[in-house]
Amino acid sequence: MDKPREECGVLGLWSESPLDVAGLLHLGLLALQHRGQEAAGIAVSDGQTFLVEKDLGLVNQVFTEERLQKLRLPEARLGIAHTRYSTTGSNLRFNAQPLTARTAHGVLGIAHNGNFTNAKPLRDRLLQEGATFQSTSDTEVMLLLLARLAHLSLPEAAAEAMRLLEGGYSVLLMNRKILLALRDPHGVRPLVLGKAPWGYAFASEPPALELLGATYLRDVRPGEVVWVEEGELKSLQVLPPAPSPCAFEWIYFARPDSLLDGTEAYAARVRMGEELFREAPAEADLVVPVPDSGIGAAVGYARASGLPLEFGLYKNPYAGRTFIQPTQELRDLKTRLKLSPTGAVKGKRVVLIDDSIVRGTTSRRIVRMLKEAGALEVHFRVSSPPIRFPCYYGIDTAARKELIAAEKSVEEIRAYIGADSLAFLSEEGVRRAIGRPVCLACFNGRYPAGVPEEGEKLALELF
Ligand code: SF4
Repeated sequence: MDKPREECGVLGLWSESPLDVAGLLHLGLLALQHRGQEAAGIAVSDGQTFLVEKDLGLVNQVFTEERLQKLRLPEARLGIAHTRYSTTGSNLRFNAQPLTARTAHGVLGIAHNGNFTNAKPLRDRLLQEGATFQSTSDTEVMLLLLARLAHLSLPEAAAEAMRLLEGGYSVLLMNRKILLALRDPHGVRPLVLGKAPWGYAFASEPPALELLGATYLRDVRPGEVVWVEEGELKSLQVLPPAPSPCAFEWIYFARPDSLLDGTEAYAARVRMGEELFREAPAEADLVVPVPDSGIGAAVGYARASGLPLEFGLYKNPYAGRTFIQPTQELRDLKTRLKLSPTGAVKGKRVVLIDDSIVRGTTSRRIVRMLKEAGALEVHFRVSSPPIRFPCYYGIDTAARKELIAAEKSVEEIRAYIGADSLAFLSEEGVRRAIGRPVCLACFNGRYPAGVPEEGEKLALELF
């Protein structure tokens, strides 16, 4: 549906007493499925044995009952899990996480959301020193750095690795006994800590904690490493925090019921819609969201404007994933399979609300669909600014040349998608709605956590 894509979700738990770690992590992963649909994996340990199962596919495709059974250690106490989306060409089984390595710290498992922007020079240095890599993922650079820091305890080694690595990342790390959570000093990617009757849990988003039976305690602080060792929760502020969390988590990625860094995603989306009305009102009869991504902002726009909110588009919940089709006609049918207009738009002037426009191709099809269904006018309102730059911190926004706003003015985009008017929410409007300083680099090109040396996104695919 031509949306930016989150690249990963992470989840981990540590329990005082034996627990069905694999079963709980499987449940929690289902709550993070929206953060990655191409691979899933779980690692568990009982203090002696360390097991990992991972593969390409959705969580429920990878974790059949038979596969979960292989992970069910009777005395299991800790584990981490991962769900992944990857850039084109790198959706390979050996990149599925958790990645593992046998090191002086014992067997290490790592699950990572985000990107290390200096992974390539670090990888080159490690190669010169004789290291070998099993994957093409930047995550393995951290794993090999940890292996080299054999003279330090695992939490000290994790802190030292944080001092060496740059970029936007949230990482879960485990050996047979200790579970660690790390967040970059800008806190670009989310990571939350929860408390359960049996111990502690970490997750990309709070709804996953709830499925583990844990309640949200707090966010892992930017620049902090938190670990659970022999039942004790410990923390070290490794780097000074300079918070700049990803605005897109609130605009689109995070589940609407997620509370991130103190701001609920749904409430922020509603406020974005209210801000959007203040900045760009339209003469119209009703407000229609592009489901599901535009719903929160449409509620806000309708509330602020006093216009009725109508579901003018039906989203087929059973459409599933379809693959890119070569002809224009088939691409149109693909959109039609997922979305179709309802009678609500006939003879009406419609304000159509979506959270973002990436390439503009789907937006164009939706506008045409509404007009064919009898909408008199379609005024397109977008609850984020135009995306002009790629993301280097774990989001696939498409290459710069594919971003319609990198090449075209707002008026040119309006003409391309065939809307009667078009407006985007300002950066200031996004900041006000979220209520905190945030990363807006894909809108303004100001990257808080650096960019990779070679600039382009696939530089992060290391081989
Ligand atoms: S560049 Fe955009 S998508 Fe990437 S972290 Fe910043 S706000 Fe999020």
